Amino acid sequence: MENIDITKLFGSDVFGDEQMRESLPKETYIALKQTISEGKELDAGIAGEVASAMKDWAVKKGATHFTHWFQPMTGITAEKHDSFLVPTQSGKAIMEFSGKELIKGEADGSSFPSGGLRSMFEARGYTAWDPTSYAFVKDGSLCIPTVFCSYGGESLDKKTPLLRSVAVLSRSALRLLKILGDTEVTNVYPTVGAEQEYFLVDKDSFSNRLDLKFCGRTLFGAMPPKCQEMNDHYYGTIRPKVSEYMKALDTALWKMGIPSKTKHNEVAPAQHELAPLFSGANTATDNNQIMMEIMKNVAEEKGLKCLLHEKPFNCANGSGKHNNWSLQTSTGRNLFKPGKKAAENTEFLLFLCAVIKAVDMHQDLLRISVATAGNDCRLGGNEAPPCVVSMFIGSDLERILKTYADNEEAKNAEKTVLDTGAAVLPVIFKDTADRNRTSPFAFTGNKFEFRMLGSSASIAGANTVINTIVADVLDEFCDYLDKCDDVNAGVKKLISETYKKHKRIIFNGDGYSKEWEKEAERRGLINWTNTAEALPHYADKKNIELFEKYGIYSEAEINSRLNILLDLYSKTVHIEAETAVLMVKRQILPAISGYQKELAETAMKKEAVIGKESSAYEKKTAQKLSELAEKICALTEELEADIKKCEALPSGAKQAKQYREKVVSGIDKLRLPVDSAEEIMPKDVWPLPDYTDLMFGI
Ligand code: ADP
Ligand code: MG
Repeated sequence: MENIDITKLFGSDVFGDEQMRESLPKETYIALKQTISEGKELDAGIAGEVASAMKDWAVKKGATHFTHWFQPMTGITAEKHDSFLVPTQSGKAIMEFSGKELIKGEADGSSFPSGGLRSMFEARGYTAWDPTSYAFVKDGSLCIPTVFCSYGGESLDKKTPLLRSVAVLSRSALRLLKILGDTEVTNVYPTVGAEQEYFLVDKDSFSNRLDLKFCGRTLFGAMPPKCQEMNDHYYGTIRPKVSEYMKALDTALWKMGIPSKTKHNEVAPAQHELAPLFSGANTATDNNQIMMEIMKNVAEEKGLKCLLHEKPFNCANGSGKHNNWSLQTSTGRNLFKPGKKAAENTEFLLFLCAVIKAVDMHQDLLRISVATAGNDCRLGGNEAPPCVVSMFIGSDLERILKTYADNEEAKNAEKTVLDTGAAVLPVIFKDTADRNRTSPFAFTGNKFEFRMLGSSASIAGANTVINTIVADVLDEFCDYLDKCDDVNAGVKKLISETYKKHKRIIFNGDGYSKEWEKEAERRGLINWTNTAEALPHYADKKNIELFEKYGIYSEAEINSRLNILLDLYSKTVHIEAETAVLMVKRQILPAISGYQKELAETAMKKEAVIGKESSAYEKKTAQKLSELAEKICALTEELEADIKKCEALPSGAKQAKQYREKVVSGIDKLRLPVDSAEEIMPKDVWPLPDYTDLMFGI
């Protein structure tokens, strides 16, 4: 095998810190660095030098073009490439890239969703350089991470609000640290590590499934005799073809400076996971977008297809994206590290309480931030967190908070030895709390893991929400402490009061159980079971007030986003329904009908040769298929009528609700007789690769 020197490879396609230091004048480098690490405003005067250095570096890497790389509301990234080429008078060409071109671009973005923020005649959209995320070379182009906004400055992308929320959270967290007496810290920033789940399937099998092509998930598919019930895939030995894919993927990611760290097989057959090391929220978000793109490209090269949909197969676990989140100071301190004496670590407990309060007060926003048609197929399905948002903090921490609330002396948990019963093994200590895999928002030792995100989602939206809601509570705490003569006493009171008021959001038990759903209802927690139900609350008064207070979104921006998300939901369901109808009419029913003919002919011939009693099997099977075909036919007609009705409605919450109630359920109903037919049809006449081909094919 070829030797890879990760240290040389890592970040080699990124115009990162080392490249900047090497190629920029010292003062320019320092100015840029201050913007990157401390959020200081960039002096536009240095853009020319940065652009020129970037271009020289990129050209050496083989780049001929540059592009402003941005994240419109489609959830994927967008790019438009311009070459560096400038013709000279002598008929030759030189390569140029100016500061102006680096800082600002104009994208005729009229086809990007704006949710009503722009009309077609106001097609201008601007992209503006985000110097806090590194530029990179991809496929012969220098890619410059940018934000995307309208002529009026309204955000049309996912990055702008995220950047706004990072700044807001930094300010609030720093303010609280100052009140608590920390004078050294100059900046606080959220860190994010997004674990990514995915499926790999054979490319040819994929190509023969219209549902995978158009919807990213199978709409039909009979259960194979074996799926994931033996738990033999989880952490299992990685098969050669998959291993080859993972190696190529790691190499491609490392080149892009994406710190891919952990890889393993997941629970479902053909399901895998990749976790990068955490970084700042903005970089982590950019990296996750690039990562999803690279995952698909590398699969293609290897004759595979990478499925990022939340629920590609009905019979197996779906895929999520665990968003690990924490707060880090400029002095390298993780504010959610409890240390050995959590009970006395009031700073930690106060920050923990801020998150508890934020999650309780804004369950709605967290739920909305993960609401998509794809994720509806996964949440609450006994493999992913339920639709109710709750928090796991572990019994030790909860006990500590309780002692504050009861005004008792708080005691630290004893470190206990893990008794393996085998004397030869080294002594290991238990973690203070066990893992809880069923909680939507779990404290996992020194960070929070928000597990509700779907695998295909951009993590920008969820992190924008987490940053903003935590910033708001931190500010409230600061306002309170500002008025306290005794800050220490004030902090204790805040811990105690916050726990008492918001403990309903803490649940350390099994989040997948039916009992929890009932208990959650008793506690008054929100349980929006689908996207159409959740989304409209985005524009609730409380949420508009919160986002406007911090300048994350204006009311117009929220409404625009709501429109876009509702439309996206309806269109996704619409496409799924149209695909189901198409598959039934052009592939499934003709196949069933053709096979019935074969059965009938066989029956007749057998009867002629062997006698009347010889065709029982053919008759029975043909009869059963007839019944199923009738059902399929009727349900398809019903579904087509419902699609028409929904399509005629104006885009918005009502339309989304109708799509959910009529069309989603229509697709689910149609699936049953189709899957039953698949079960009794011979493999060679069934027109689609089956679940065995897809999940056990590589
Ligand atoms: P799991 O058991 O859920 O797989 P891991 O320990 O593998 O958890 O970590 C999962 C993710 O959490 C990784 O991406 C890791 O980099 C990230 N992570 C670790 N510490 C932090 C932190 N302080 N802030 C944000 N993410 C973090
Ligand atoms: Mg995890």
